[in-house]
Amino acid sequence: MKLQYKGEKPFQPVAQLHYPQPKLLEQRGQVSVPPWPSPAARPTQLLTLTPWLAPIVSEGTFDPMLLQNIYQPLNLTIGLTVFAVGRYTGFIQHFLESAEMFFMHGYHVYYYIFTDDPAAMPHVPLGPGRLLSVIPIQGYSRWEEISMRRMETISQHIANRAHREVDYLFCLDVDVVFRNPWGPETLGDLVAVIHPGYYAVSRQQFPYERRQVSAAFVEDNEGDFYYGRAVFGGRVTRVYEFTRGCHMGILADKANGIMAAWQEESHLNRRFISHKPSKVLSPEYLWDDRKPQPPILKLIRLSTLDKGTK
Ligand code: UDP
Repeated sequence: MKLQYKGEKPFQPVAQLHYPQPKLLEQRGQVSVPPWPSPAARPTQLLTLTPWLAPIVSEGTFDPMLLQNIYQPLNLTIGLTVFAVGRYTGFIQHFLESAEMFFMHGYHVYYYIFTDDPAAMPHVPLGPGRLLSVIPIQGYSRWEEISMRRMETISQHIANRAHREVDYLFCLDVDVVFRNPWGPETLGDLVAVIHPGYYAVSRQQFPYERRQVSAAFVEDNEGDFYYGRAVFGGRVTRVYEFTRGCHMGILADKANGIMAAWQEESHLNRRFISHKPSKVLSPEYLWDDRKPQPPILKLIRLSTLDKGTK
C-alpha cells in the first residue's frame, strides 16, 4: 500500500556518502580571527541546523506565539501512539495526565493506546478536542518481541485507520513523562529526537549495529546524530513509510536469525541515515531522569522515568 498526497514525490534514500559528523555542541566564535579567545572563554551552544538544512529544535530557536498563530488556524489533528504491554500499563495514567497538561495544548489530539490489557486502562479526563482509542494487541513474554513489533503495528494502524484520522503522528514510549510544553514547533514531515546518552560523543561511539550481516549495519564513518527510539514522528504518510521501512529491516534480520544490537532503535537509526529527518528535536524532547540537566539544555520537555521508579 502506498499512502501519498496528490503531487507528492516519493522520497529517495540518500546515497552512502562520507562527510564530517555534525556536532550538536558547538563553540561560539569558532570562526573568529586572531587573537582567538581561549576555548574556555567561548560559551558552548546548540547547533540549530543540520548539514542537510533541517532545523534542530530547542528552547530559544522558535517563537511559540508566532507558531501558534501559524498552526492554530490549520485545524490539525495530532496522533500519539503508545504501547503498554504487561506491567507497562502502570505507566499510562502518569503519561496521559502529563500529556494532557503539556502535549499540543489547544490542538486536536488523538491518543492511540495499544495494550494487551484494555481492562487495566485508567480513566483520565481529556480536554476538549482530545480523543483516545484503546487498541487491543497480543502480549509477548519477551520484551524484545514487544518492542520489535511496534514498527509493524504502527504501520498497519496507519494504513488501516490513522491516515484518515490524523495529520501528524508521534510515536512515544509509555514510561516517559511530559514536564514542559510540547507544541507545533515539533511538527515536520519526518521528525527524530537526539538521544540523551549520545549527544556529545563521536559517531564511532554511537551504539549502532556494526555487523554487516544485519540490515541495520552502519559503517564507522557514517551517521549524523544518534536518535532515540522513544520518540519519532511526522506527517502520517511519512511515518507510514518510515515504520514500514524499519519493519522490513527487522524482518530481514529475523530471516537471517539475528537481532540488531539495540533492536528497533538500531533499525530506526539506520533508516534515519538514508532517509534524513526533516526536523530534529534536541534532547530537551527526550531526556533521562537519571541524568542531571546540563546547563546547555534550558528546559526538559519530556523525560524517561528512572528505572528505579519504574
Ligand atoms: N513495552 C511494553 N511492555 C514491556 C516492554 C516494553 O509495553 O514489557 C513498551 C513500552 O511502551 C515502553 C517501550 O516498549 O515504553 C520501550 O521499552 P523499555 O522502556 O523497556 O525500553 P528502554 O527504553 O528501557 O530500552
